[in-house]
Amino acid sequence: MIPMVDLTAQYPLIREEIERELSKVLDGAQFILGPNVQAFEQETADYLGVKHAVACASGTDALHLALRAAGIGAGDEVITSPFTFIATAEAIRYVGATPVFVDIEPDTMNLDPDLVRQAITERTRAILPVHLFGHPAEITPLQQLAYDNGLLLIEDCAQSFGATVDGVQTGAFGIAGCHSFFPSKNLGCYGDGGLVSTNSDAIAEELKVYRNHGSRERYYHHVIGYNSRLDEMQAVILRAKLRHIDSFNAGRRRAAHAYSEALGELPGVVVPSERPGMQHVYHQYTLLSDRRDTILAALREKQIGCAVYYPVPLHQQEVFKEDCKGQMLSVTEDIARRCMSLPIFPELNDAQIDEVTSTVKSVF
Ligand SMILES: *Cc1c(COP(=O)(O)O)cnc(C)c1O
Repeated sequence: MIPMVDLTAQYPLIREEIERELSKVLDGAQFILGPNVQAFEQETADYLGVKHAVACASGTDALHLALRAAGIGAGDEVITSPFTFIATAEAIRYVGATPVFVDIEPDTMNLDPDLVRQAITERTRAILPVHLFGHPAEITPLQQLAYDNGLLLIEDCAQSFGATVDGVQTGAFGIAGCHSFFPSKNLGCYGDGGLVSTNSDAIAEELKVYRNHGSRERYYHHVIGYNSRLDEMQAVILRAKLRHIDSFNAGRRRAAHAYSEALGELPGVVVPSERPGMQHVYHQYTLLSDRRDTILAALREKQIGCAVYYPVPLHQQEVFKEDCKGQMLSVTEDIARRCMSLPIFPELNDAQIDEVTSTVKSVF
């Protein structure tokens, strides 16, 4: 049996620190937005190479608060990827804006900048690329497009913590980078958590107001905000894990490269590619094959974890039917029919990798 993600494998490495620091939090009884959250925000800003990091309650909230802080609202269009988790587009809807889905590039499965250019209208206010599965989107051309057209660039980094483009971290390119600390993400806590990275003093200030009921000073409220805060216990866990994030991501890369080495020559199988200058952090290891369903069945038979991310692209989801009537995005639709993901986590060992790859190969 091999799970998709095995969080028990890394706990021994951080157990001592987490237990020690959690018991201090319990003794001190300060649970929300305390000194650990503040320290974690500073350590994350330093790690990402940005001026500010503002923690919040989830990755979904990070997207929502970032869009709100950026002033995006009713009547605005936000260009994004149809091949992502629903939260990306949900957040656009939360602020009353309209998601505009644009097709992806077949190798990285990320937004195609040429198609983004063609989709810009009078109403476009922002571009929201997703660094899907841990491979950075084509962020430099997207940044240029945003600049040339007076648009905001907001990054969905929920799957890309630690990924870089020419040495610069994802989340440091746009006006805001939105991170998720859901337990299975590259940097995960033991509950829900999120964070927005930004180089803008104004955006950071707005985020702090919105996450705490629209107040700058306690019990004085000038806008309607939210309850979206990180708690001290999650911050303790995140601080412990942040120290190891590069080695965790290196473990994911090592496992991914072993998979690709073993599976790259199989007929009709497309293994993940890595563009020059870009550091893929393999939140997922996703391959393409016309024989996907047969491979999935063989893996399930052996109780090896496997999944389809994502079977239904957002432009074909019931909830966006009205917006996307009949819209066809051929690259996305083709990939949704052929994609499948294998188990990936930093501690995946050689024996497990062998078992996964030999099971996949047995289909051919
Ligand atoms: C996980 C995820 C989110 C949402 O993060 P939560 O912390 O679960 O709210 C947003 N976008 C993408 C691409 C994700 O994978």
